[in-house]
Amino acid sequence: MITENIQKILNELPKNVALVAATKSRNTEEILEAISAGIKTIGENYVQEAEMKFATIGNKVKWHLIGHLQTNKAKKAVKIFDCIETVDSFELAKTIDKECVKINKIMPIMIEINIASEPQKNGCLPQNVEALAKQIIELKNLELIGLMTMGSIDVDDNQLREQFHQAHGLYDKINSVLNGKLQYLSMGMSSSYKLAIEAGANMVRVGTLIFGERKK
Ligand SMILES: *Cc1c(COP(=O)(O)O)cnc(C)c1O
Repeated sequence: MITENIQKILNELPKNVALVAATKSRNTEEILEAISAGIKTIGENYVQEAEMKFATIGNKVKWHLIGHLQTNKAKKAVKIFDCIETVDSFELAKTIDKECVKINKIMPIMIEINIASEPQKNGCLPQNVEALAKQIIELKNLELIGLMTMGSIDVDDNQLREQFHQAHGLYDKINSVLNGKLQYLSMGMSSSYKLAIEAGANMVRVGTLIFGERKK
């Protein structure tokens, strides 16, 4: 099924939109099948889980961190990941930069936005994104390549569409400030990626639609 699911999604996806397979809780066998079916990038949420899978899968695929990163895991994270999509504070950015300096690596990163300014949710508040972006571009071992957002879970399609539009507006604004430095707007999951693409996403993160319902 995994192969068929991926082929179907890839066939329907506009050419400019990158597909990230969200692989949390999926085993290496499932992920290797996804890679054979054409997946070029996987998104993992937890550093430890990614580390275990990386030992088997390695660099056959690009690894994106799509879950929140705790500063004490940054050292391990910079070894595995090709992109960290969830940078939401200058504190975290500096920690990642420092670890990258040690291993002489330039890390592509995205700023995660808490687009609906929900309390207790990770992500930089919309009004702080520009300031954070300007701070991050001063860090020599980070390369800011995009913005990422989750959108709310408990809202209807119209509200979600509005959130994605806001994120796209912010993307355009930041990109004009940074002279077109950003390349990716990562938003949309299994239930929302079509909406997200309509609103301007060019990277979507899909798990359930590829692998089926998660067991846990
Ligand atoms: C799990 C996850 C996804 C994919 O969700 P599905 O509903 O399974 O497609 C996308 N983004 C993030 C950050 C996730 O944690």
